[in-house]
Amino acid sequence: MKVSDHIRNANGKTMFSFEIVPPVKGQNIQDLYDNIEPLMEFNPPFIDVTTSREEYIYVNKGSGLLEQKVTRMRPGTVGICASIKHKFDVDTVPHLLCGGFTREETEYVLIDCHYLGIDNVMALRGDSAKHEQYFKPVNGGNHYAKELVNQIADLNKGKYLHESVDAKHSSNFCIGVAGYPEKHLESPSMKTDLQHLKDKVDAGAGYVVTQMFFDNQKYFDFVKMAREIGITVPIIPGIKPVAVKRHLQILPQVFSLDLPENLVKEIEKCTNNKEVRQVGVEWAIDQSKELIAAGVPLVHYYSMGKSSNIRAIAKEVF
Ligand code: FAD
Repeated sequence: MKVSDHIRNANGKTMFSFEIVPPVKGQNIQDLYDNIEPLMEFNPPFIDVTTSREEYIYVNKGSGLLEQKVTRMRPGTVGICASIKHKFDVDTVPHLLCGGFTREETEYVLIDCHYLGIDNVMALRGDSAKHEQYFKPVNGGNHYAKELVNQIADLNKGKYLHESVDAKHSSNFCIGVAGYPEKHLESPSMKTDLQHLKDKVDAGAGYVVTQMFFDNQKYFDFVKMAREIGITVPIIPGIKPVAVKRHLQILPQVFSLDLPENLVKEIEKCTNNKEVRQVGVEWAIDQSKELIAAGVPLVHYYSMGKSSNIRAIAKEVF
C-alpha cells in the first residue's frame, strides 16, 4: 500500500516507522531480521531501506602495488526490501539515489520494484562520493532529486526512457523525498532549500521525510514555512536517538545541525556510552511525545540497523 494511503487510513492516529541500513557485504541477513523482529510489535506500516553510495577501495596487488576499485559496500537494497516484505508482511520503501546510477540503471531498479509489488520509493540525490568534494552525477545520471522524481512520475504515466517502448501497463509508485528542518548543508538559504523541496513535490512527490533534528521547534517552524509556500503533502519527522559520545561532533559535522544545549550538557556528563544511549533514548521519547501531541502522521526513526534503543523509545510512546 502507498505511504499516502497508510496515512489516510490511520485517521489522524500517529504511526511508528523506521529505516534500516543493508548489512555490509559478507554479512548475514539474519542479523537484520533479528533487529527488525522486536520492532514489529509497534505495527510499522512500512520500513525504509537505505542505499549507499559507491566508494573506492584499494586492493593490494603485492610488491607495494595498490589497485583502485569502485565498489558498493552495502548492496542489496531492493533484495532486502523484497525479503522483508515477504517475511514480515510489511510494506518496504527502497531509497533510490541519483549518485552513482545512470537513468537507465534507475529505470531497471524501478521495474524490479514494480514487479516485486513495492508501492513506494524514496527519491534522493545522495551525498557526494567519499573521493569527491562536490556531488557529481555519473554520465547519464540524474543530478538532483527532482529529476529522479520526474523520472519516476514519468514511469507512473507509462513513459519509459526510450519512446520505442509500447507501454501497456504502468507503475503507480508513491514517491517520498527528503526535507531539511535545519536546511540542507549545501543550500545558500532556507528559502532556497524550501523552494527546491516544493519543486520536488510539484514534480510528483507524495510525502516528505525530514532529516533528523533534536529540537522540535525546528520541525514545527519548517512545517509552517513549507505550508506557507504551498507544500501540502505530509511531512514526516525523522528522529535519531544519540547513541555514542562521538555523535556530539559527528552529527553537526555530517548533517549540519544543532544539538540543543541541554542535550549536549546531559551527554557531556555521561562517563560511558551506555549512559549516552540512555540520555539519547529519553530525549527521543520526549521529542516523540511532543510530536505525537502535535498530530504528526508518523514518527520515523533512524535505527542504523540496531533496534534496542528504538524499541525502548517505541515502548514508551506507541
Ligand atoms: P536534492 O533535493 O537534490 O537537494 C540537494 C541540494 O541541491 C540541496 O541543497 C538543494 O537545495 C539543492 N538543489 C536542489 N535542486 C536544485 C537546483 N535545481 N539547482 C540548484 N540547487 C538545487 N543518502 C544516501 O546516500 N542514501 C540514503 O539512503 C539516504 N536516505 C536519506 C533519507 C532521508 C529521509 C534523508 C533526509 C536523507 C537521506 N540521505 C541518504 C541523504 C541525502 O542523500 C543527502 O542529504 C543529499 O546530500 C541530498 O539529497 P536530496 O535528495 O535532499 O537532494
